[in-house]
Amino acid sequence: MNKKFNNSLVWFRRDLRDYDHAALSFALQESNHVFCIFIFDKEILNALKNKQDRRVEFIWESVKELKESLIEKNSDLIVAYDFASDAISRVIDEFKIEAIYTNRDYEPQAIKRDAAIKNLAIKKNIAFYDFKDQVVFEKNEILTALAKPYTVFTPYKNNYLKKLSITTLPRFDTEPFIKNLSQFKSTPMITLKDMGFHFTDLDQIKIHTGMTGGKLLVEDFKKRIALYKKTRDFPSIKGVSYLSVHLRFGTVSVRQLFRLALESFSEGSETWLNELIWREFYFQILFHRPDVALGKAFKKEYESIVFENNPKYFKAWTEGKTGYPIVDAAMRQLNQTGFMHNRLRMIAASFLVKDLLVDWRWGEAYFAEKLIDFDLSANNGGWQWAASTGCDAQPWFRIFNPITQSLRFDPEGKFIKKYIPELSIFNDDEIHSPWLSQNFHKINYPQPIIDHASQRIKALALYRHSKT
Ligand SMILES: Cc1cc2nc3c(=O)[nH]c(=O)nc-3n(C[C@H](O)[C@H](O)[C@H](O)COP(=O)(O)OP(=O)(O)OC[C@H]3O[C@@H](n4cnc5c(N)ncnc54)[C@H](O)[C@@H]3O)c2cc1C
Repeated sequence: MNKKFNNSLVWFRRDLRDYDHAALSFALQESNHVFCIFIFDKEILNALKNKQDRRVEFIWESVKELKESLIEKNSDLIVAYDFASDAISRVIDEFKIEAIYTNRDYEPQAIKRDAAIKNLAIKKNIAFYDFKDQVVFEKNEILTALAKPYTVFTPYKNNYLKKLSITTLPRFDTEPFIKNLSQFKSTPMITLKDMGFHFTDLDQIKIHTGMTGGKLLVEDFKKRIALYKKTRDFPSIKGVSYLSVHLRFGTVSVRQLFRLALESFSEGSETWLNELIWREFYFQILFHRPDVALGKAFKKEYESIVFENNPKYFKAWTEGKTGYPIVDAAMRQLNQTGFMHNRLRMIAASFLVKDLLVDWRWGEAYFAEKLIDFDLSANNGGWQWAASTGCDAQPWFRIFNPITQSLRFDPEGKFIKKYIPELSIFNDDEIHSPWLSQNFHKINYPQPIIDHASQRIKALALYRHSKT
């Protein structure tokens, strides 16, 4: 059959799988020979100061698996280490590429990069196609009756649910057309060392990478999804899916997860569906308000808050040494594993901003450096939610009490003890505020660096002042 193109190129980025993949599926259907490429982009990697970055290893392992999977299909993956435009330009010439296929990315830097590649394609007189793949609804697909972007979650979600149905969730199959992958052999995979990076502890902390890692977690979560609503807020219980890193790098298909949520029919799956929609809510916020990625408050009236920004407090927070066990355990989880449970992200973020009076942008940047699942839209959305500067955020006068949060969500202190074993001598009543115990002097753990009640009053004054 005559195809639109003889040779085309699929450019993988944050979609590291070869099934249910929009760009790959369309390229295979429209071309005789599909070549695939992943670029370790020097522009991004050069900016990373820490050369032992878990994310780089996650990507490297996942790209390796993708390459092996394409080799099994008698094709290959070109793995370049270069600036995106240089690598693409070279491959276009070498393989006489007539069209580039890729999945859209909504982060401001990525939009800029893709515009440059579109221009390159125009100059080289070839086609450039990008597809929606990372989300179910994008850009202007969910708007208010006045055709404006939503800034409040519930009406956004209600409209979203009206448009969502299992029958309209597309499947971007690749298997039926897989023979159109080009049969060629590329060079061996570049090593992490060749790019100046080192292996981390992903193995030890049991992060399974790639499509197989994603599938393992999905299968595991299927058994637990019905209980999600009841268990999701307790960090010591395996209640959540832990799929965020796979959503970040596209080693699972988001449509597959929506199908799972829609077909599970339980109160747990309904709540989980909500969370997947929150993810897209923040994507559309970033798309419509790219200035939030530049440190701007979503709500302009909070732009002028003058935080105290005590560097000692910030340091203690990053090290998990504030003297508030639930906050410290959360920060130690982040530092040790690159993950933090959602309830703890809310508690730790609120504590930094409204107890320690440190600018939310400092915390946002710290999470961005440490989280393996770091996603600009969700991280910014989460921080602005906690700092009350965001759309549909926590009201400014609502301030989490770290002790009551701890009592509610880690009542027996199981999570706290896991990350701060020295607190194991305390009983369920003492562990949330150990400084009140007579035995406190026996252990090596800091006194609270601030008093929650008095800091709360200061925070309220700060926010009230910024509004006047
Ligand atoms: C301050 C702060 C920073 C955050 N930074 C990030 C980040 O960088 N990357 C990230 O993926 N999530 C972030 N979140 C959202 C949330 O904490 C994580 O998505 C979640 O903890 C990941 O665990 P999970 O995959 O087990 O989630 P589950 O509870 O199983 O949820 C399933 C999926 O839904 C999405 N999701 C869940 N909660 C949220 C939410 N509140 N906002 C947006 N999407 C959500 C995620 O993609 C998640 O993988 C942040 C939240 C806060 C409060």
